[in-house]
Amino acid sequence: MAEKHFKYVIVGGGVAAGYMAKEFAKLGVNPGELAIISKEGVAPYERPALSKAYLFPEGAARLPGFHVCVGSGGERLLPDWYKEKGIQLIVSTEIVKADLASKTLRSAAGETFKYDILIIATGSTVLRLTDFGVQGADAKNIFYLREVVDADQLVEAIKAQKNGKAVVVGGGYIGLELSAVLKMNNLDVTMVYPEPWCMPRLFTAEIAAFYEGYYASKGIKIVKGTVAVGFTSDANGEVKEVKLKDGRVLEADIVVVGVGGRPLTVLFKGQVEEEKGGIKTDGFFRTSVADVYAVGDVATFPLKLYGDTRRVEHVDHARKSAEQAAKAIKASEEGKRIEEYDYLPYFYSRSFDLSWQFYGDNVGDAVIFGDNNPASPKPKFGSYWVKDGKVVGAFLEGGTAEENKAVAKVARDQPQAKSLDHLSQVGLAFAL
Ligand SMILES: Cc1cc2nc3c(=O)[nH]c(=O)nc-3n(C[C@H](O)[C@H](O)[C@H](O)COP(=O)(O)OP(=O)(O)OC[C@H]3O[C@@H](n4cnc5c(N)ncnc54)[C@H](O)[C@@H]3O)c2cc1C
Repeated sequence: MAEKHFKYVIVGGGVAAGYMAKEFAKLGVNPGELAIISKEGVAPYERPALSKAYLFPEGAARLPGFHVCVGSGGERLLPDWYKEKGIQLIVSTEIVKADLASKTLRSAAGETFKYDILIIATGSTVLRLTDFGVQGADAKNIFYLREVVDADQLVEAIKAQKNGKAVVVGGGYIGLELSAVLKMNNLDVTMVYPEPWCMPRLFTAEIAAFYEGYYASKGIKIVKGTVAVGFTSDANGEVKEVKLKDGRVLEADIVVVGVGGRPLTVLFKGQVEEEKGGIKTDGFFRTSVADVYAVGDVATFPLKLYGDTRRVEHVDHARKSAEQAAKAIKASEEGKRIEEYDYLPYFYSRSFDLSWQFYGDNVGDAVIFGDNNPASPKPKFGSYWVKDGKVVGAFLEGGTAEENKAVAKVARDQPQAKSLDHLSQVGLAFAL
């Protein structure tokens, strides 16, 4: 099979790849210089839509509606855009071997791709209950959600199981978002997770109490402090029950599992330095191997603001790291220098009528402010995290664009806090 050569190859065709193509085009690439090789069959799209509007019972989002870069208010890059720019979009092509020494990639179909500069943007894959040997976890109607094909399968199952019972395994943001959309589709939803409250890696007990109360008011049942240890299925192999460690059994027509992910670095194991589970980069997303960059979910990068290294599995970082790497590549070709990546962590989620944003670091002491009564007609509340007397993190539910911008500024500037009590009393006004 003929060998193809490109100056730049991005392996992976998700959020980071799309934003990187946009930035490359802005900075100037010649036709035929850049290729994106993606396992998925479609052009890069805004992945967060899959657990939100994609699953709505009415007015659901569908491609081409949410190709990048609409999620950040930018131009929507349709497949023709790549064609016009002379960017090769090589879809439905999985890379199964990467040899960084000879700058060669091989696809599952046996094609060979050579590159001068490689950008690793393979993202993450979901953790599966079958990986942990959970009994019966290979039954039909047990779903995971990462790619648009997974979302299509879930849409079909939701249609087929009208008014049925759904069990959502996992209490992270994917579990929370999926529980909400399943409920909106009139399924009888139960969430199960082992922790004492939802989103424990970010939420304090007080923040979580609001969301758990709100979900309960929507009729979602929450079972905490236990895990799914097995599934039973019927004669067709379709899931019927979820067995819990504490002995309880939940009926289920659909199970959706959101128990976390793992960065897809396996192709590069032993060839590139790793740290904290990801591919180690500098502030320009250069890896330990010359001419190889890593961006998005797979990169462990220096977080200048906190003087440590992090791996961030969120869309804002996927976008910004990709833009930074494209800028760094072009600048080094021109013998110029750009500023190091200086990222302010930013995560968000939306479900039902709720919408929260978080900026900064959730370390130190946390204090809550505002109206966090789940029964309020328009709840609006937040939290600040204070470390060494400074506000280092800020969370806001129900904020306006201006208010979200203000709390982001607080997390970036890290102003002194008089006391936790004072912050709790002044609340959002501290940021405005
Ligand atoms: C359902 C869902 C909802 C989310 N919601 C939010 C949210 O609300 N807020 C938020 O901040 N973040 C959210 N995220 C996280 C966010 O989408 C990711 O952090 C982001 O997509 C990472 O971008 P990436 O380009 O690194 O990886 P991805 O977007 O995952 O792209 C990786 C691409 O590489 C391809 N690939 C992998 N291996 C190979 C290979 N060997 N050969 C070829 N192609 C390969 C994959 O098929 C995929 O197309 C969500 C994620 C999911 C799955």
